[in-house]
Amino acid sequence: MGKEIDINQQQQVNINPKDLQDVFCTECENQTFNQVFLFKKLSAVLSPNGKESMIPLQVFKCDKCGNINDEFIPNNDGKKII
Ligand SMILES: [Zn+2]
Repeated sequence: MGKEIDINQQQQVNINPKDLQDVFCTECENQTFNQVFLFKKLSAVLSPNGKESMIPLQVFKCDKCGNINDEFIPNNDGKKII
């Protein structure tokens, strides 16, 4: 029964798991991640309403050691996201 369910799900999504690249924690090589938020401040000068704002960003941290991979951080290379 379990196998039949797996096959149906693969057909719906139409993605071969073999084509997917695994993402590992860069610190401990764990493969599971928790959804967390980090916050950015938007300065009053750039804000549409003229007030300083807090912008929540969804990122994922390692479920095991708590590390956040660099590739998960939206503006890690210095680019502004907004
Ligand atoms: Zn880790």
